[in-house]
Amino acid sequence: MPKTISLALLLLLALGVGLPAQDEQIDIWDNKPLGPTVPIPPIGPPRVNRELKDNRVSQKLPGTPVLLAENGRARAAIVIPAESNERQYIAAKRAAELLQAKVLASSQATLPIVNDGDPQPFRIENGKLRVIANNDVFDYAVLIGDNGFAAENGVAAKDLPEEGFLLKVVDNAICIVGDYDSAIYAVIDLLEQYGFRCLWPGELGTITPKLPTFAVQPIQISDAPALHQRHMRSSDTYKPRPWNLPPKRQDWFTPAELGPYDDYGDRPLAGLYNLKFAPRHMQHWAPAKADWSLWHRLGGSRRVGAGHSYGYAWEKYGKDHLDYFALLKNGSRHPLPVNKPYRFQLCYSNPEVIEAIANDRIEALKAGASTASLSPNDGGGGNAPCMCVRCRKLDIANAEPITLPSGDPYVAISDRHFHCFNLITEKIIAAVPDARVAVIAYSQYRNAPLVTEIHPKLIVGFVGLSYHDADYNQNCREHWDRWANKAMQLYWRPNLFYGTKGILAVYATELAQDIKHLYRTGMIGTDIDTFGQDWATLGLNYYIVPKLLWNPAADPEAIIQDYCQAGFGPAAAAIREYFAEVEKISQRAAREVSARAKARAMADADNDDPARGRLHWAAFSAAYSQEDYGRLHAILDRAKQAAGADEAISQRVDFLRAGLNFTAIRARAFDVCFQNPGNKEEKIAAVNAQYDFFKTLYIKYPFAVNVAFLGWWDGNTWTRQGLKITPENSLLDR
Ligand SMILES: [Zn+2]
Repeated sequence: MPKTISLALLLLLALGVGLPAQDEQIDIWDNKPLGPTVPIPPIGPPRVNRELKDNRVSQKLPGTPVLLAENGRARAAIVIPAESNERQYIAAKRAAELLQAKVLASSQATLPIVNDGDPQPFRIENGKLRVIANNDVFDYAVLIGDNGFAAENGVAAKDLPEEGFLLKVVDNAICIVGDYDSAIYAVIDLLEQYGFRCLWPGELGTITPKLPTFAVQPIQISDAPALHQRHMRSSDTYKPRPWNLPPKRQDWFTPAELGPYDDYGDRPLAGLYNLKFAPRHMQHWAPAKADWSLWHRLGGSRRVGAGHSYGYAWEKYGKDHLDYFALLKNGSRHPLPVNKPYRFQLCYSNPEVIEAIANDRIEALKAGASTASLSPNDGGGGNAPCMCVRCRKLDIANAEPITLPSGDPYVAISDRHFHCFNLITEKIIAAVPDARVAVIAYSQYRNAPLVTEIHPKLIVGFVGLSYHDADYNQNCREHWDRWANKAMQLYWRPNLFYGTKGILAVYATELAQDIKHLYRTGMIGTDIDTFGQDWATLGLNYYIVPKLLWNPAADPEAIIQDYCQAGFGPAAAAIREYFAEVEKISQRAAREVSARAKARAMADADNDDPARGRLHWAAFSAAYSQEDYGRLHAILDRAKQAAGADEAISQRVDFLRAGLNFTAIRARAFDVCFQNPGNKEEKIAAVNAQYDFFKTLYIKYPFAVNVAFLGWWDGNTWTRQGLKITPENSLLDR
């Protein structure tokens, strides 16, 4: 056991925290922590202090341009390695197909793709490389992947850093190599230089310059990402877990309606059902969003995640080992409600639980699992942490205040949890020395422990930072810093965009500064959850994240200016002003949420809790005054005027305006239902106004807000107010 942990355990024991005597009665529920009061340690200087460095190097070369297309005619052929199952071939093919599609859209020319090998597609004529494809000879070539010509000119994948790429124009050829999947990133880099952009998914957000003649200037570019795990998880791909309730999709849709869309997540399907959309109405969604994620180079060569991981436990241990489970306020160790046992918590202070979990994980790792997750089940349904005497002895008496699901005040249980996670990790590592063990720091155990050190092999995913509550965010920043000094491997797993439930908000600049800080202090990657796909209201925030994950040194203002320029041309200045105004309102709204949270005691360490969250979202949307709406519309009017006869730009302005209108209608529903409750008729009218709006919005701008996801979430929200999305709201014909 590492020295630091031994010391922490000794400290705990010295402070009187230990297991009770055999005969001690431990099944006493109380909300009084029984651990010591300790001095709150200062945060101290960061353990890791990385510099922000841009890895991209671009250099102009002498020579003449490489023509991809000339007056709408293909002038270059794309050569990829011989067909195989190898990563290099698959990555090169993907890169080639993207280049081919983009040049076709831009130049109306189809560049042929040919395989290197037999027969050799090259020949040398007058000292120049020629490519034979489709019985034509092409004077220019794009060579993707390793080949002899590229290697002779110093372009080879073996020399690259992890996920790095190199693009070099050599004579009449563009040579591209990439490590892992990175050949395609080189193509994207090149296309971005010529004005291609992907602002949001779908045609309207895709910027394709018209280049009948597409000439690539001689250049050399190399780059590699700062982080090798750049995950942003879409909210609407949530799939039922094996232990979860059987999916209801068969009750919602006929097999014919589900058809090829049976792989949609449960949440969007539930939302579509609530709103009376058929799955086919969403058919363009998944591919368009995948295109956006690819363009923004999300993914990466590493994958660490730690999902809620004890969903199986009740079924496996509930019958014979009731003492493995949490003692609840009602004095029982049975799950609440009985139909949600997959959310039930464990009694981690029970040494048999430590043993059982470690053995389960060791078994899974030996069977090929890539990671052992130790993350507790998600909350909900009254499933509180165990409050037995033995567990409470592990809780530090003066840890930060939290509110239990029962509504009782308590203290953060991070020391208890991480004390036990360390013990489990130690057992796993003893059996599988190279095991990857991970856990999230979330909810009642989000805060860094006060006395417990973290096992050096335990990877921690910090669930914090979202931009709708200023105080909460400040608290998250402090706890990130505490974690950064404790965990040897720390990744960021925020519920980042959940905060405003589709309500218009801009916090791109603040977010970029936070990502820079996280990177500097040791972040190894991200697993960003709740990427909600509300592109007309939160799109700028989405846009900035992958750019910063690739290059934390990037200038956020330059990215925003580029977004405005690329998408809005002559209206760019007005759109920049619009985002700046929304950013000011968003900051004000986040402060108001904090103030109301204090006044109404609705904030705690876990403000992702949905019941409390509804009040947060109501308070956030209430910050938009009629004057704000008027001012924002006036700015968009000016943008519209500046767009003139440019139909695409004009429509993009309308797209943003749709988000603004959505916000006003939704704010009204939150206001009438939660903030200043009206009578039932008023509530129904306000709730239903949203769905009338959804109908026109979805048909015109399907990517403006995530109608399917909101249909799911709203189903829960308004039902709790005695309101339902009724069949009368039928939106689109099944
Ligand atoms: Zn317990």
